[in-house]
Amino acid sequence: MQISVFGIGYVGAVSAACLANDGHNVIAVDPNPHKVGPLNEGISPIVEPGLDELIQNGIGSKRLKATSDVREAVNGTDISFVCVGTPSRSNGSLDTSYVAAAAEQIGAAIREKNSFHSVVMRSTILPGTMESIVLPALERASGRQAGVGFGVAYYPEFLRESTAIADYYDPGAIIFGRHDQATIDRLLELHKIFKVEPRVVSIRTAEAVKYTNNAWHALKISFANEIGNICKEAGIDGHVVLDVLCADTRLNISKAYLKPGFAFGGSCLPKDLRALRFAARRLDVPTPILDATMAANEEQLRRAYSMVAATGKRRIGLIGLSFKPETDDLRESPLVELAERLFGRGYDIRIYDPNIQVSKLTGANLQFVKSHLPHLATLLTSDIDEVVDHAEVFVLGNRDEAKRLMSAINDERPIIDLVRVDQTRCSGDLYQGICW
Ligand code: NAD
Repeated sequence: MQISVFGIGYVGAVSAACLANDGHNVIAVDPNPHKVGPLNEGISPIVEPGLDELIQNGIGSKRLKATSDVREAVNGTDISFVCVGTPSRSNGSLDTSYVAAAAEQIGAAIREKNSFHSVVMRSTILPGTMESIVLPALERASGRQAGVGFGVAYYPEFLRESTAIADYYDPGAIIFGRHDQATIDRLLELHKIFKVEPRVVSIRTAEAVKYTNNAWHALKISFANEIGNICKEAGIDGHVVLDVLCADTRLNISKAYLKPGFAFGGSCLPKDLRALRFAARRLDVPTPILDATMAANEEQLRRAYSMVAATGKRRIGLIGLSFKPETDDLRESPLVELAERLFGRGYDIRIYDPNIQVSKLTGANLQFVKSHLPHLATLLTSDIDEVVDHAEVFVLGNRDEAKRLMSAINDERPIIDLVRVDQTRCSGDLYQGICW
């Protein structure tokens, strides 16, 4: 199939590379030259395990290319996947301006096209957004009626950064929000290779499923953190408690996200929870559980800060800065928040993260660091030994690097282990320090 992917970010770059890997011809579209340029040279614009290789293969086989030219992309393809950002506004509501602009641009290109084009929204949008914003923008700009002159679907994305390619090939669920059958048929054809049977629901249901999914993950994390905090103070290993809970076959609970650890963060859970709570307020629906999930997350940050303060040490070595290992995504990283608090209270910090090295950051990420974290950028080092020499206490946010670090130090300096979840197990043998 001929496919265009709008937005070369954490979702779009992975989707485009994987679709090309599946044998489709893919045109990735982004107005940002720092995304288009590297991709055309076979370089991934983001840090994601395995993505460089897929992009190189895609460019090498000529099945993948990038452009900023919307018309070229829509004219040359049958179906467009829209993967542009939907960030939080300052009041917590969902900023749909990128989605609306992409719909306008694609609609204008459809106006000049003779064949039936399908527009598939993959960005996370609140229920009703397709109906109230995306469809009107497409119809206005194309001068055609949705379902007749072009097709539409909503297909929520569930990938997790750092395991995004594995998630693409082994998705937990595939949900299509139906508008017209022609577009659903195209999506079904594309997804024949997957083991999971796609589920076709209404567009509003599909929009709601995505928010429910992220709210559930956030709730599980906050719940596990709270149980972990109680267990820790009572001298019990909270990981074992939750492992045993998940082993109860009658409960049938997945272990995913149900591990004590640090606060959740990243570009999805906090912003999607905020948007859901904002939407609920507008509907006059109280959300005490979602409110508590956010409050519990804030508490986890406060506890981490208190743990550092309790050591009485001032020179801190922070290992890891992105919101989880194996990504360079700093958006709403709780480690950034912790570093800010420590920095603001005069702690002398050095930060090491293999994926956030100022000298190696490119384009969009460099801009992000410069505009959002100029003060922290001066504390980042590309030399983990500098952190080892500097620190009186270590704060671990990245387990892989922690292992390396642990072999470099064999003294009694305190270690505060904030590494969350699946890649982590607090082990007294390796981590003699303070664990959750
Ligand atoms: P991102 O910020 O990394 O990337 C968005 C990209 O869209 C940017 O490169 C931007 O330049 C580009 N863009 C903006 N306007 C455009 C336009 N008109 N045409 C083409 N490109 C345009 O965002 P992301 O993390 O990839 O997330 C995208 C969407 O997917 C969001 O709605 C997010 O909530 C959702 N999502 C993200 C994840 C994740 O793990 N990051 C997972 C599931 C769903």
